[in-house]
Amino acid sequence: MEKIGFIGLGNMGRGMASNIRRKQFAMMVYDLNPKPVAALMELGAEAAADVAALGRASSIAITMLPGPKEVSATAATLLEHMAPGSLLIDMSTVDPETTDALAATAAAKGVGFVDAPVGRLAAHADRGESLFMVGASDADFARAKPLLEAMGTTIHHCGGPGSGTRTKLVNNYPAIILCQLNAEALSLSQGFGLNLETTLEVLHGTTATNGQLKVNWPNKVLKGDIAPGFAIDLAHKDLSLIMQAANAARVPLPVAAAAREAFSAARAQGNGALDFSAMLDVQCRVAGVKPPRLA
Ligand code: NAD
Repeated sequence: MEKIGFIGLGNMGRGMASNIRRKQFAMMVYDLNPKPVAALMELGAEAAADVAALGRASSIAITMLPGPKEVSATAATLLEHMAPGSLLIDMSTVDPETTDALAATAAAKGVGFVDAPVGRLAAHADRGESLFMVGASDADFARAKPLLEAMGTTIHHCGGPGSGTRTKLVNNYPAIILCQLNAEALSLSQGFGLNLETTLEVLHGTTATNGQLKVNWPNKVLKGDIAPGFAIDLAHKDLSLIMQAANAARVPLPVAAAAREAFSAARAQGNGALDFSAMLDVQCRVAGVKPPRLA
């Protein structure tokens, strides 16, 4: 049976690793924060002394880290220590350049590589209901599949290595832009003095509807819950990745530029650690209107 190593037990990774462990896979874990490591140990996982030890012990190593900087540094150490024939799966949201470099380094060392960034939210990851966008050869995809099935319900094999990361950026562009769009629409509604419930009924009954407004916001910011979830800092990072990648492909994204700077302003005001639905509160402060709340 495969020996799994999992690095990055944050809002997403902790639930994902727990669901793999619950399927009885042998597992070693590592995170800079000892708290989630202790939680995984309670489920029977072993704590790795460091990244190198995890690399040596794992036939499949998984990374679920904040962004390109952490993934590149961690994967460089992993790939020094993983045996030829093992498999590295990066599930973090990073840029295509980082993913392509990892795939090339892994191939040169005889290690398989899968990029499998994650769709949906931390609550889905906890319940084992994530969606995955997978870039992999057919053989590496088949090897990763039992783990993906332990963590999620929906698996899309998007193409060869690098296609998962690229699909994730395409997906996160509207997913994140809609957050700022919702904030502007509801602050305008507040500025007009409209009834919140009626406005929501109207928007949900037309093509103005979207998943953030329909599914996430009523349980988060509109209930006054702005604990992350998915932090404004990470949304800002994803928008920056999207813009960099789009620039490289000479595709202009003017709304992304405007929205990224709205996220930049939110961070400058000290809101980076809040859930990204809190863009509504930031926008309402800019507009000088009261942030709306559901009863
Ligand atoms: P997070 O900040 O909650 O978790 C990151 C974890 O990595 C933390 O536990 C941190 O201690 C650990 N870490 C950081 N640097 C490390 C290092 N060098 N070595 C070991 N551990 C380290 O982030 P998250 O919300 O779990 O997101 C992880 C990735 O998944 C990001 O790329 C994010 O963009 C993506 N993502 C997040 C969501 C979401 O809803 N939160 C959804 C889909 C994808």
